[in-house]
Amino acid sequence: MNIILFGPPGAGKGTQAKYLVKKLNGYQISTGDMLREEIKKETIIGKKIISNMNEGKFVSDEIVNSLLKNHVFDPIKKEKLIFDGYPRSLSQAKNLDLLLNNSNQKIDYIFFLNVNKETIVERIKKRKVLEKRTDDDLDTILKRYDTYIETTRPVLDYYSKNSKIHEIDGTMEIDQITSKIEAFLNV
Ligand code: AMP
Repeated sequence: MNIILFGPPGAGKGTQAKYLVKKLNGYQISTGDMLREEIKKETIIGKKIISNMNEGKFVSDEIVNSLLKNHVFDPIKKEKLIFDGYPRSLSQAKNLDLLLNNSNQKIDYIFFLNVNKETIVERIKKRKVLEKRTDDDLDTILKRYDTYIETTRPVLDYYSKNSKIHEIDGTMEIDQITSKIEAFLNV
């Protein structure tokens, strides 16, 4: 089965994705991780995206879609995709539909981890200390949250037409969120 973990930055998508990878023998498809890897390796793409990433701005669809494509078409990962941080806009959602269609796949579950702005700010402040991400300072967090509301949140309306979205209170403890997801998946 293929799963989308949806929600604002700091909702816990990455944490739950890592858990699901273990539980379901799946593959975490985190565009954020892929982009950070490009920066770390100082690739041509890495050099192009570093300022956008640091400022909390979106990286272009062209770059993100090209990094994503191989994973969706990878036969080993087929039906085991756990999307974390993609799609983040309507055009990305449409691109994902196309890629999945072309590889005879579909999305089976969408989990919407809903978290309020105050909780996100508190969580990301803590994450900055632990992970030292350059896009986790207060101004950038607020900008990323606004982008989420304006551009990413509407993706839910797009999916609500054809898929069932399972909304989960993302302010709960990590284990409680995991249990809710397990209950929906029946695992
Ligand atoms: P994340 O690790 O998912 O919080 O992503 C960190 C940063 O990577 C974002 O703030 C964007 O700059 C970039 N990024 C990650 N995923 C995407 C995406 N699907 N579209 C555009 N930019 C992205």
